[in-house]
Amino acid sequence: MIRIVEQKTKIDILKMLKDTEAIMEGHFKLTSGFHSRYYLQCAKLLQYPDLTYKLVSEIPEIMSKEILNSVDTVISPAIGGIIFGYMLAFKLNKKMIFAERKNEKMEIRRGFEIKKGEKLIVAEDVITTGGSVKEIIGICRENGAVVEAVVSMVNRSSDIDFNIPYYYLIKFDIDKYNPDSCPLCKEGMELYYPGSKKNN
Ligand code: ZN
Repeated sequence: MIRIVEQKTKIDILKMLKDTEAIMEGHFKLTSGFHSRYYLQCAKLLQYPDLTYKLVSEIPEIMSKEILNSVDTVISPAIGGIIFGYMLAFKLNKKMIFAERKNEKMEIRRGFEIKKGEKLIVAEDVITTGGSVKEIIGICRENGAVVEAVVSMVNRSSDIDFNIPYYYLIKFDIDKYNPDSCPLCKEGMELYYPGSKKNN
């Protein structure tokens, strides 16, 4: 079961995710160890610029106008957040940069700079634990910049608090099963490990 917790726009995002197979149906082993009937791979939707643009165009509708007007830059975590962040920056007519993980740590590379007093929003396609986003907020603050808000297409977190406004288009829950009591295991369905190199 997929349960919509909150949907902030009239667009049927869940249908878009299913139509583009960004929500895959099968029998999946999640990074957390749980089993699930569904797996979300947002890149499958983001491969279509027209659909992505349609979704990012909803963001200004749900954001504070004050924040929208004051922001200089969109920053995203590589690789997942880049397409979403770039399209959002295009829509908002802002600059876009990204941070990438090197030796387990998020870093700004490629000559990108964050200036003192610069106002940013952090954009990510899907937020689950929010770890990368929090690291990026830290990098911005170390540089004396101000992070005004966090934005994502999908919120898959249980209860996350960045201590700044967090805007997202949809929040939904997907049933997950303990491997010991997984109904799909009982049915004998083949198990996929979507996070691993084997199936990527
Ligand atoms: Zn199972």
